[in-house]
Amino acid sequence: MSVPLLDLKPQYAALQAGFDAAIARVVGSQHFIMGPEVNAFEAEVASFLGASSAVTCASGSDALLLALWALDIGPGDEVITTAFTFFATAGAVSRLGATPVFVDIDPATLNIDPVAIDAAVTARTKAIIPVHIFGLPADMDAISAVGRKHGLAVIEDAAQSIGATWRGQQTGTMGDFGCFSFFPSKNLGCWGDGGLVTTMRDDLREVVKQLRVHGNYPKKYFHKRVGMNSRLDALQAAILRVKLPHLAAWGEARRERVIGYKARLADRGLAEQVVFQSVPEQAVPVYHQVVVRIAERDRVMAHLQARGIGCAIYYPRPLHLQECFADLGQTEGSLPHTEQACREALALPIFPELSADQQDEVVGALAEAIQ
Ligand SMILES: *Cc1c(COP(=O)(O)O)cnc(C)c1O
Repeated sequence: MSVPLLDLKPQYAALQAGFDAAIARVVGSQHFIMGPEVNAFEAEVASFLGASSAVTCASGSDALLLALWALDIGPGDEVITTAFTFFATAGAVSRLGATPVFVDIDPATLNIDPVAIDAAVTARTKAIIPVHIFGLPADMDAISAVGRKHGLAVIEDAAQSIGATWRGQQTGTMGDFGCFSFFPSKNLGCWGDGGLVTTMRDDLREVVKQLRVHGNYPKKYFHKRVGMNSRLDALQAAILRVKLPHLAAWGEARRERVIGYKARLADRGLAEQVVFQSVPEQAVPVYHQVVVRIAERDRVMAHLQARGIGCAIYYPRPLHLQECFADLGQTEGSLPHTEQACREALALPIFPELSADQQDEVVGALAEAIQ
């Protein structure tokens, strides 16, 4: 039996009638840009998150860009973040002419190490971007404290963590900004690109809204600043409105499947060889990915692939060692925990509908490779 890394088809089949009605509604109205669907989704997702407002945009990458831009971050400024993340986290910083400064992770959680952030602050530092990697909240108590101590903005990259909580509070609502992605494979995915910015900064909410529509202010065709075009399509908003009511249950199903993996591995005596992200007691993760660490990862991965088990490496090369960041001067060996995670990390199949038989198959294949 082959097992895909991610299968979106069961979710589509379960909600098809709702999608059909939502699409017919938008197409019938012929209202495709902004308007009632986008407004309704923004209100519904803000309420889900417990955020005072939510501003949609064209992608998670743009959400990061809009947040940094609203903070007026640019040339000469430094932004501290993790090198163990998707490229967009740091790409947004560079696109504005600012400098990403990469610090190491905590090897137990794979999230950014707050002590390392504190040590990397300089007179040029303007912001910190923690990433809630694979849907596990970063230590927001310690990160917020470092931010307060040095007067830095905190932008949460919550692209992988929608629905996850830290001390009961949703990720993306604890920093100055929260940035989310609705890329199809994310836990709340649309049928194309989409993103969202939340902000706790009442003074900057309107700035984000202006920047996403060419800096329009005080009305259309009048421009207070130069912005961009970064909107969520009404069709995507309508699709997301069908999915949002199910997000909490999907998160629960993902957590159950991780418990299932751990129990099966323990039964086979493999609990030590297959190491999961350790979950702090304050955190409720949503497992966007189930990333485990395994010695001889490449050999184990080849075996799983030969057995038809979907798996992937997040991330094969850390950001500080990417060619485009070579001039920043962070060389091999500078972030040892990050580099080791890149050598050992392996993502296993996870989606809410993953069956018990499929989990047996994955763990069976792991056992063959490791024992
Ligand atoms: C997916 C992702 C993004 C970017 O989102 P897009 O919608 O693909 O632009 C940013 N950061 C992280 C950590 C992500 O996983």
